[in-house]
Amino acid sequence: MEFLGRTGLTTRRQVVCCLLATVLMAWASSTQVSAAGWKAGVARAVITPENPVWLAGYGTKRAPDGKLHDLWMKALALEDDEGHRVVLITSDFQGVPKGMSDQVFVQLRMRFQLERHQVMFTFSHNHCGPRLGDDLVDYYPVEDEQVKLVEEYTALMVEACVAMVGESLSALAPATLQMGQGKTTFAVNRRNNPEAEVPDLLAAGKPLKGPVDHSVPVLTVTRSDGKLAAVLFGYACHPTTLSFLTWCGDYPGFAQLELEQQHPETTAMFVNTCGGDQNPLPRRRVELCQKYGHMLAVAVEDVLQQQLEPISPSLRTAFEYVDLPYLKVVDRADLNPLLADPNAIRARWAARMRQKLDRGEKFPASYPYPVHAWQLGSEMLVIGMGAETVVDYALRFKLEFGGGTWVCGYADDMIAYIPSRRVWEEGGYEGGSNLYEYGRPAFRWAGDIEDRIAASVHRLVGQVRSTNDETPTGE
Ligand SMILES: [Zn+2]
Repeated sequence: MEFLGRTGLTTRRQVVCCLLATVLMAWASSTQVSAAGWKAGVARAVITPENPVWLAGYGTKRAPDGKLHDLWMKALALEDDEGHRVVLITSDFQGVPKGMSDQVFVQLRMRFQLERHQVMFTFSHNHCGPRLGDDLVDYYPVEDEQVKLVEEYTALMVEACVAMVGESLSALAPATLQMGQGKTTFAVNRRNNPEAEVPDLLAAGKPLKGPVDHSVPVLTVTRSDGKLAAVLFGYACHPTTLSFLTWCGDYPGFAQLELEQQHPETTAMFVNTCGGDQNPLPRRRVELCQKYGHMLAVAVEDVLQQQLEPISPSLRTAFEYVDLPYLKVVDRADLNPLLADPNAIRARWAARMRQKLDRGEKFPASYPYPVHAWQLGSEMLVIGMGAETVVDYALRFKLEFGGGTWVCGYADDMIAYIPSRRVWEEGGYEGGSNLYEYGRPAFRWAGDIEDRIAASVHRLVGQVRSTNDETPTGE
């Protein structure tokens, strides 16, 4: 628990009676504040597996056959003028499971006194990235050697992540933060546009259907000598251009590489905003992946040429888990008929769930869903949400909280798809009975999932935007 406030300034002002002295004091304080400013630290680590851990994200065994480029994990540490800190981790991982990120959060608390509300561990959802822990565990055939490799690699990544965050904190140095927004259009709502029809629709100049978020939010970190230390950018789209066996970062990997080639001393970092129901279409060819990466990099470059908005050096953070109930927890009667299901994922899941019941385990009725709110100055709000959030969440919260709002999915925990009420009512892949794919003990979320998440987001944003100096910042 941490308390935020600026009570020092208020108290000093109260004891000054003379008008001139008040003015001088205020002037002195404001120059002191702007002189202190932000501090930022950047660090990075290669995460390309050296052992043949399989590629993650499609429901098959995919042993790696080489790499197009390295995979990365990156950290941006920020400290405001009163010493409040946050660390944003971005990565080319497909899905970080709770079992892994919780180990990182525990170690960051012990070693660097970073509380849960101060760290967001995001992953791009790159489907040319490696398996981790028990993420999507029923997607893959069980082979003992592979189980061991995944365990070893995951443990190595926990260690590497903690070390990298330590480096980003050691690198904290004065910086200015600015933001802007660009646009690129390759994301397609995959629920509303059959993949096979998209090339013809695009060629005919016909409009595609369904909600999308084509915005490219950009945050720059600039040193006092004018050097660009980091550029963070987001886009709402699945990194599923490719489905082959070669390590690469898919379109976000190509975008980051291109930006770092254009700006050799800069670390480029990507967050998947709310791309749960968005695909890069058409796809499946390396040229298309490079093209989408280039489109995204160009959108970021365009923003860098614009007049950017400075972000004032104050930071308020809040975090909570909100309980997301399942519609119905499965029991033996649900599982038994599925043991011989022709769908291998469903059959593996049913067998694993039944073993748990045999061991006397009781399935929880809900899942603890992580939600963050970070307010940077008065200008930028970062809402961080676990798992595969559909685009409706970004569109809704940007409307409700205004310009400067980033809505990031894929934070802290892979969990499952997170449908909006609309998508839940419609059903289908992201909204229907598919929680089993992620190893959850149920088929569907309860129908009020959006209401519960929105209530949590509003509660946390209320805290970080509150003028009450003693607002608790959560777990
Ligand atoms: Zn996905």
